[in-house]
Parts: sequence; structure tokens; C-alpha cells
Amino acid sequence: MRATTREGREIELKQDQIDGLRSRLRGPLLTPGETGYEESRTVWNGMIDKKPALVARCLETGDVQECVRFATQNDLLLCVKGGGHNIAGLATADGALMLDMSAMRGVWVDTERKLAHAQTGCVLGDVDRETQLHGLAAVLGFVSLTGIAGLTLGGGFGYLTRRWGWTSDNVVGMSIVTADARLVRASSDENADLFWGLRGGGGNFGVVTGIDYTLFPVGPEVVGGVVAWPASEAPKVLELYRTLAEAAPAELTLVALMRPAPPAPWLPKEMHGKPIVALLACHSGRPEEGEKAVAPIKAFGRPVGDVLVRRPYAQMQSLLDGTQPKGRRYYWKSEYLPRIEPALCAKVIEHAGRIRSPHSAVILFQLGGALNQLREEHSPVGNRDARYVLNVAGSWERANEDAANIEWARDAWNDMKSFSTGGTYINFLTEDEDPERIEAALGKGLQRLAEIKSKWDPQNVFRTNRNIRPA
Ligand SMILES: Cc1cc2nc3c(=O)[nH]c(=O)nc-3n(C[C@H](O)[C@H](O)[C@H](O)COP(=O)(O)OP(=O)(O)OC[C@H]3O[C@@H](n4cnc5c(N)ncnc54)[C@H](O)[C@@H]3O)c2cc1C
Repeated sequence: MRATTREGREIELKQDQIDGLRSRLRGPLLTPGETGYEESRTVWNGMIDKKPALVARCLETGDVQECVRFATQNDLLLCVKGGGHNIAGLATADGALMLDMSAMRGVWVDTERKLAHAQTGCVLGDVDRETQLHGLAAVLGFVSLTGIAGLTLGGGFGYLTRRWGWTSDNVVGMSIVTADARLVRASSDENADLFWGLRGGGGNFGVVTGIDYTLFPVGPEVVGGVVAWPASEAPKVLELYRTLAEAAPAELTLVALMRPAPPAPWLPKEMHGKPIVALLACHSGRPEEGEKAVAPIKAFGRPVGDVLVRRPYAQMQSLLDGTQPKGRRYYWKSEYLPRIEPALCAKVIEHAGRIRSPHSAVILFQLGGALNQLREEHSPVGNRDARYVLNVAGSWERANEDAANIEWARDAWNDMKSFSTGGTYINFLTEDEDPERIEAALGKGLQRLAEIKSKWDPQNVFRTNRNIRPA
């Protein structure tokens, strides 16, 4: 079988080598054409079309260790798939041995210590489901099908970030299989350098098999949902967003977006496909306070749809899932913002008016709060001055529409990037980003990350990621 080395050369893997690996694994080892191979090799972004030579569906840590050992002994390129949601498709690589973690999806909740231990094949919804049984939640992201691994290793933000910081700020320990196939614990007491690097430095240091999250009392009921107006109301709605967000308590997270209306049942049929402006809100505190906090949104103008109500927190966490299906084509450009300026709102309206697909959007996510209160050096995720995220999110169906949609996203980004803090979110970077964008994402932490890489992965075994070269 043809496979690819770490340096990108083609090699031949003999059948007895493959059979030997298969015999040492508890989970299946899949080759092209076998049932399950396609499901594993494909990722969320349909623009990515890579074919690993072998896919190991790991069932336990021992499988991960066997695969890392096999890859290093045979100089084989290794890639690791968590939820497969990285827009740049970093989870997959041509000719590689892929570790598909999706069968390792256990979650254990310790209600006394308010901790959850989650295996890294979990998607966000797995953790929310188990923790919400106890009225608890970890700080995770907005779409329940996203993998916890990639999200946490790159930082992670969602509706609880303003209260408790990045996802990675709320991790107390990780289990990781390193380049020499050892299982190692990383926490503030054990291998503290590795622990620092893992909270923002991505999958550069090994295969993380388990993550321990601090949990907080949230829900089970919160006030959350969306209100939408025709795009003609955007100047007033974005001004409302700007003023409400500036004064919002940490419990309230507001997201503004402009896009063609999706064919959702809560929007009238005659609006489907027409441009709208919408505010998405989640108040994670007491529902009575939440209702007061979102009252100005619900009372504003004449919405075409309003589903901003009391609802289960777990439902809130999956509200956007349907808008982001696996297999569609996606291209994002993103920046952190220090504030929302009226001039930026005008640009958002202008570029939303030029959207070329029914699925694309210009989105403003609110951050701020707890994440601004830690020091820059706390972890490599940095960007402690970020108060909003601008995401120009292109999404379309067919390959022959690639050029037009990418051009739209790039033009909009080029025109709005002057509003940036100068930083960007590593987990939103697309495949074609320049190295300086990785510097913009990791900033001052890069040198220290390179030193940690030298110690834990000097041969750069783990390179199918936002790769940090050993110092
Ligand atoms: C629809 C959608 C919604 C999103 N929403 C949010 C959001 O609300 N908040 C937010 O912060 N981000 C969000 N993101 C971005 C998200 O954080 C990144 O896409 C992240 O990389 C996804 O993690 P994953 O495990 O699914 O990725 P994958 O594509 O599986 O992996 C991403 C990277 O992590 C590495 N990796 C995966 N598993 C492991 C492991 N066990 N050990 C070591 N390395 C590993 C991979 O090798 C790869 O380099 C969203 C993305 C999408 C597509």
C-alpha cells in the first residue's frame, strides 16, 4: 500500500506491517474502500478532499499508543481527527495514518468536585448532555457537533466565555500520548510546561485522550434564541447590538449576524432567502434576570421572527447546528475586535449586501468579560484584549461556486480588517492562511511553544496542525 512519510515522500507499506498493526488494535483499522473509511476520512468542510492510507478507529488509549509507535517506527505521517470540524481540514492528510477518535466518547461527571472528564472523541453535545443532568456545564462553543479536542486545544469560546474565560482557561488537566508513545498527565502540578502549551498550542505535542473540565452551575433553563428583522432595519439593529453589548452583564452573550434568511419554520415563508439581520442572545443566569436583559431586543421594531425564549441550555447549545451541515463548502475570514464601531457596522451591512450564496453570513460574536481579566502569558491562546470576533463566513454548495464565494469573503475581510486588534482566532483559520496569520493568532507565545515542542516532539511527529517547529 502507498503511504506518505512525515516529509511527504511516498513509501510502500507491506501487508504484513498493516496486519501486524491491525492485530495489536482493539478498534478497526480501515483501508480505502472498507465500510466506514469514507465517513472517517471526510471532514466538516466539503472543500477538503484528502485520503489517508489507513484509518485507525481507536477504542482506547492502548490503540492510540500502538498507532503513534507504528507511525514513528515507519516514518509515517500521522493525523488526528477529533470532531473533524476544523475548517482548514487539519484532521486529515493524504497518505497518512489517521487516528479517528470518534469512538472514544465517554464523559464522567464528578458532581462534588464539579469536574467532567471527557474522552477526546466527544463532540460538545456529549459533554453538555451529561453535565446538564446535574445542572452543570463546561465552557464550550456554539455548535454541538464540534469536537471538544480541536476546540479546547485552540482556545474555545461560547455562551459562557464572558463569565469564565476561554474553554482552555477552564481545563484542569489532560491525558496525552506523546511522540514516544508514553501516556502522560499534564496539569499545573505535572508537566506544567506541556499543560501550558496544550491550552492554545493545538495538537502539536501529542494525542490528547482525555480532558478534565471545571464545571459551573448553568441552567437547566436559560433565556436564549434569536430575533430577526428585514435587512433594511440593519442600521438600527446593529446600533442596538453595539449599545446593548457594551453594557451587557457577563451572563449575557450577544451575537449579531446578517445573511439571507434560512428556510426555518420560525421565519415566514415569504422571507426565506431574503436578507435579514438577526440578534442571537443567551443569558445563562437566572431566567427572570435573563428575560429583563433581553427585553429591549424583543421590544425592538417589527421583527419577522422571534424565538428568544426560556429554553433548556442543552437545546440552546444546538440551536445553530442545522445551519452548519457537514459536507457543504466553507471559507471563513476572521479577526478579533476591541470594540464595535459604527463605521464597522456600516461595512458589515455593505458586505452582507454582496453575499453570493443563501448560506453565507457576516457574524459578530461577543467576547469580553472573564477572558480579558487574565494575563496574556496565562496560556498561548493569548488575545486577552479580544472583545468581539468578526467572522465573514462563506458557505455554499457547489465547487463551481468556489471562486465567487471565496472572493466575496476575502474582499469583505480586506475591507474590515483595519478594525481588528491585530489578533485572530487560530481555530477559525482556513487552509490558505499565511504564516503571519498564525503569528497573529499565537502572538508572544510562539517562542515558548517552540521550546515546549523541542522537548516533547523534537522530530515533529505531530505536524498536521497549525505546526510549531521545534526551537
Ligand atoms: C460549525 C462550527 C462551529 C464552530 N463553533 C465554534 C465555537 O463556537 N467556538 C469555538 O471556539 N470554535 C468554534 N469552531 C471552531 C472549532 O473550534 C475548530 O474548528 C476546532 O478545530 C474543531 O475541533 P475538532 O475536534 O472538531 O477538529 P478536528 O478537525 O478533528 O481537529 C482539529 C485539529 O485538532 C487536532 N486534534 C483533534 N483531536 C486531537 C486530539 N485528541 N489530540 C491532539 N490533537 C487533536 C487535529 O489533528 C487538528 O489539527 C467551530 C467550527 C465549526 C466548523
